[in-house]
Amino acid sequence: MKMNAKFIEERKVGLEKRRAELEKELASSAEQVAENDYDAKFVDLGDKDDDNAAEVAMFEKNLSMEKTLEISLYNVKKALKKIDEGNYGICEKCEGSINPERLAAFPSATACMKCKEKSL
Ligand SMILES: [Zn+2]
Repeated sequence: MKMNAKFIEERKVGLEKRRAELEKELASSAEQVAENDYDAKFVDLGDKDDDNAAEVAMFEKNLSMEKTLEISLYNVKKALKKIDEGNYGICEKCEGSINPERLAAFPSATACMKCKEKSL
């Protein structure tokens, strides 16, 4: 697999689709408070003990989902910005190129495999 205009265009289409999906998912569990910041929704179900327990459980679920989605969305946006700037596929840490196979499987990757392994 080679990094060329077509390869990058395909990643861009995939990333834009992913961005739309993530924004939709986030909208159902969280409210946007800033460009890259969302707060989990607190749903008011009522005042009975059962309602309160369900509210807390739902909030905790929204909270963990919101965090994961927010990070994914941030990375997807970052990758799209890199495409626009013409430095997509370049490792943020060592400035080497990221393996195209890795980008095909994980289009929002910002570090090469070697740097990724080092940071784990
Ligand atoms: Zn690297």
